[in-house]
Amino acid sequence: MFLESNVKLQPAGWIEVVCGSMFSGKTEELLRRLRRAWYARQHYILFKPEKDKRYALKEVVSHDENAMECITITHSGDLLKYVGGVEVIGIDEAQFFDMGLPDVCQELAVAGKRVVVAGLDMDFLGRPFGPIPDLLAMAEYVTKVHAICPHCGNLASHSYRFAESDETILLGALDAYEPRCRKCFSLGNKLKPFRRKKA
Ligand code: ZN
Repeated sequence: MFLESNVKLQPAGWIEVVCGSMFSGKTEELLRRLRRAWYARQHYILFKPEKDKRYALKEVVSHDENAMECITITHSGDLLKYVGGVEVIGIDEAQFFDMGLPDVCQELAVAGKRVVVAGLDMDFLGRPFGPIPDLLAMAEYVTKVHAICPHCGNLASHSYRFAESDETILLGALDAYEPRCRKCFSLGNKLKPFRRKKA
């Protein structure tokens, strides 16, 4: 568990990244950190990309149905319009943002803000996803959270896709993806052309 150290005492801003596979609890962890900032009477704001319309337009909702109000934006640069007077900035589903996001986060951190970014570190083929790799390199604090592989019980770091689609972005929940460990992910992808469709 990530515990903030000297959250109110540090003079400069910084970047935190919470990443992992689907169903690993990234959004829950992001919301937990923002709630703690709220308890500390800090001004926070939460953003998500316009592409993520799964649950609600103006809320971030985690798989355990925690919800928090947010602002939906299409371009990373739009963040800058909303952050005056804000101390803590949360960004969910950051993998869907454009490649300008790391520079925007850097600008915010230099301006003294705490930036908490959550997102998928890998896509459904196990490839580094969008701006997340750059953010991992630039962040002061990185937390990888894990789901549990339903096939073997090991920690799951990959997002296995059942659906027959080569699109990198295919939004969905339980029916389209499952978390898998590296071994079961790799095995599943090898068998894919021969497997039967999931009922
Ligand atoms: Zn496994």
